[in-house]
Amino acid sequence: MLLGALEAGGTKMVCAVGDETGTIYDRISIPTSTPEKNMPELTAYFQQYDIKALGIGTFGPADLHPASPTYGCITTTPKPGWQNFNLMGEFQKALHIPIGFDTDVNAAVLGEAVFGCMKDISTGIYITIGTGVGVGVMVNRQLLHGMLHPEGGHILLARNPADSYKGFCPYHENCLEGLAAGPAIEGRYGQKAVTLKDIPEVWELEAEYIAKALVNYILVLSPERIVLGGGVMHQEQLFPLIRQKTTAYLNGYLTTKQLEDMNNYIVPPSLNDNQGILGCLQLALDAL
Ligand code: ADP
Ligand code: ZN
Repeated sequence: MLLGALEAGGTKMVCAVGDETGTIYDRISIPTSTPEKNMPELTAYFQQYDIKALGIGTFGPADLHPASPTYGCITTTPKPGWQNFNLMGEFQKALHIPIGFDTDVNAAVLGEAVFGCMKDISTGIYITIGTGVGVGVMVNRQLLHGMLHPEGGHILLARNPADSYKGFCPYHENCLEGLAAGPAIEGRYGQKAVTLKDIPEVWELEAEYIAKALVNYILVLSPERIVLGGGVMHQEQLFPLIRQKTTAYLNGYLTTKQLEDMNNYIVPPSLNDNQGILGCLQLALDAL
């Protein structure tokens, strides 16, 4: 059975066609511009196939509540043209099939939960550290929505006293995203993050902020596994630093078998950066 998947991101839209086993048959990626430009391209792509349902994982904030009059809409994004845009509704009009709708990071956690490294656990989180920071949360095998959906990139952190970079989040001076997403590294050091690979203090500070955030997520959500993805996490030297600092900040307060096995607790994505699109396939299946 063919299913459609759309990962709607701030920089690119990834569309794919696959099936319920997680096999992907075709995929395209188009740059995110305006709905006027993107929507005809996106619907035309899916209309080529006999897909039975579509799953959308979108950048946010978005309305995920089926009973809400604005269900399926992107809401307050600063992205020009996308404010209050009825993303799901436009696909419903064009495709007339069931549609699943969630955030991009919830799709990623779902992908790992069904096809990857969270198969064996019930509560876990997926964090992307890229252009922004997003946190997808699965609790007892359900994706967490709550009031809106988690916006874990914007939790406030204790700043390193020696860090004078003011942060790039327009809302918060010291949130995780503003201090530690890719643009923060670039703003602090004046060059692309990837070119700073061999400067240890860059990654010490980056790991400090990420570990501080993880401690908060661990204490509040009690995840059994934490997956860290996104462009910045391609710097693999971050993983051991983050594991050490997370252990240090927890300071022995919790003793669990998971925290004793940090290499299997704080992990990279297991699905070759397909976790988001596979999660969208599962959203499609769940919508059927
Ligand atoms: P997006 O968040 O737009 O989906 P990415 O997850 O690739 O895309 O994140 C892009 C950000 O990650 C940019 O700020 C970029 O500088 C940073 N980035 C991408 N690749 C690397 C890398 N190999 N090392 C460090 N930073 C990276
Ligand atoms: Zn913020």
